[in-house]
Amino acid sequence: MEFDDIESWESRVYANVFNRLPLALTRGEGVFMWDTEDKKYLDFCAGIAVNCLGHAHPEITKTLTEQAAKLTHTSNWFYTLPQLELAEKLVSLTGLERVFFTNDGSESVECALKLVRAASGKKEVVAMKNAFHGRTMGSLSLTWGEKYRKPFMPLVPGVKFVDYGSVDAVEDAVSSDTAAVIVEPIQGEAGVNVPPDGYLKALRDVTQDKGVSLILDEVQTGLGRTGGWFAFLREKIKPDVLCLSKALGGGFPIGATVYAGMDFKKSEHGGTFLGSPLACSVALKVLEVIERENLSENARNLGEYLMKGIGGLGLECRGRGLMIGFEVPDGGKTVLDLIGKGVLTIHSKNTVRVLPPLIINREHAKLFIKRLSEVA
Ligand SMILES: *Cc1c(COP(=O)(O)O)cnc(C)c1O
Repeated sequence: MEFDDIESWESRVYANVFNRLPLALTRGEGVFMWDTEDKKYLDFCAGIAVNCLGHAHPEITKTLTEQAAKLTHTSNWFYTLPQLELAEKLVSLTGLERVFFTNDGSESVECALKLVRAASGKKEVVAMKNAFHGRTMGSLSLTWGEKYRKPFMPLVPGVKFVDYGSVDAVEDAVSSDTAAVIVEPIQGEAGVNVPPDGYLKALRDVTQDKGVSLILDEVQTGLGRTGGWFAFLREKIKPDVLCLSKALGGGFPIGATVYAGMDFKKSEHGGTFLGSPLACSVALKVLEVIERENLSENARNLGEYLMKGIGGLGLECRGRGLMIGFEVPDGGKTVLDLIGKGVLTIHSKNTVRVLPPLIINREHAKLFIKRLSEVA
């Protein structure tokens, strides 16, 4: 099928809501993808930091098909073992106490919001300017962007937004009715905003002093992306609530809210599909591969290499591990130019976002820099 036909097909039957890039993808293998014209691309967007093991990873495909042939879904009326195994693994990796599974990032944040509200009986949450926490009505209430929020007002009340990176602003915003402070360790959708060193530690101290929960939204930064299992480990703190998703299923939808020191009461929260044996088996395998192949360390090393290379082209570049952004005069144009060169990235305004699979090697990084040098 010609690309033009695909485009007009979509415009006829699909919600007119996505700003899509002008290509239709049909298959992937490792770090590469192919479109309907069989053109090959170096995938440095990984489905927005999701495909951490690249595409068609043989172990993931095997787990997916074997578990699908055994048991896919039961509902949470029943106990299933993959759910408990994955919960145990996340408890051990995070040092927190309990896990609630979700289907995506927004639902992980939604769960965190309901948890801190229910457990504390308090109503306010402090969130950050430029934050992105999702698009369901609860998670949207914690998201900053006017374009996401405006048509849906009124949202959940009691959210105060303060400057990202400022600890004093959080201290001032917390009141006796504050349930939690929510923050991304690095703001992703906003364009890879890296806060000052010590920011998370300082937020941990303030929230501890004031007796409010600290929710870390590591939906994007978590699971190896920033060069360690979680961004919070770098500042040697523990959040009360941790939101995960994107990379957890390596492309299969699943999220998790991991927490300590509080809990729901029976029936306060739930969902038909949450924590299915299929999703949990796949996620367990993803974590096993990240661990066995030291992919956090690979992210740290290749991230440094890429940042040096991008900086070497005279571009202002920031990030940590394989969560990188660099500034260009027109982000949308650079992304299209890179597509022309067979490289996939995404952008937020004038920041091009580089989020490759965690399995990339030096050759992939070199190829990216070479292609970038041809367009930037
Ligand atoms: C992507 C993202 C979300 C929302 O996740 P969805 O799976 O799109 O619902 C929430 N928080 C952060 C930090 C994200 O990057």
